[in-house]
Amino acid sequence: MLIAEKIKTGLDKLFPNPRCELKYKTAYQLLVAVILSAQCTDKRVNIVTEKLFEKYDAPEKILSLTQEQLEDKIRSCGFYHNKAKNILSMTKDLIEKFNGEVPSDEKDLQSLAGVGRKTANVVIGEFFKGQAIAVDTHVLRVSNRLGLVKTENPLKCEIQLNKIFDKKDWATLHLQMVLFGRYICKSQKPICENCPFFEICVSDKKHK
Ligand code: SF4
Repeated sequence: MLIAEKIKTGLDKLFPNPRCELKYKTAYQLLVAVILSAQCTDKRVNIVTEKLFEKYDAPEKILSLTQEQLEDKIRSCGFYHNKAKNILSMTKDLIEKFNGEVPSDEKDLQSLAGVGRKTANVVIGEFFKGQAIAVDTHVLRVSNRLGLVKTENPLKCEIQLNKIFDKKDWATLHLQMVLFGRYICKSQKPICENCPFFEICVSDKKHK
């Protein structure tokens, strides 16, 4: 069996029904949640957005907040100054360029202030059910440890993963690799005894 096939089969067994752990009702809410999730846990983001979206659940409502007011509401997610700035700039762009509707096209998404390739790919895969591998810190780490890539550059990693795996699997693979990285192949103390990829792994963190 090819390594890519082994990895896909192993991930399917570990996470047969992977789900994004961020809570949202609309594409806009998902976009805000993904911006907040940088360097923060999904659990923390969900606590913050549950309260934020009670009153401020749509672009126009978020724009009624000042930078300082929004910072106060998202403070516990960390990097709140930049995150509030990005959310407000993105929302302003969204209203001006797309009438408040989140576009499904990758280039359009990336034309929004504060929206990079990873965020755009998460929204495409998660909300629009398109195929994209969003390379976050977990996907990058896991891909390197499994020997699928040898790079710390997320774009190069994405291009390589796109070549290795079947397009129909991209969005699911992203979710599975995030969960694998979050719960098994953790950054500092990976749980190698539960890992089906021990033989394949090229990481110096691997241990028995
Ligand atoms: S053996 Fe350990 S370090 Fe290697 S992929 Fe599995 S969990 Fe990660």
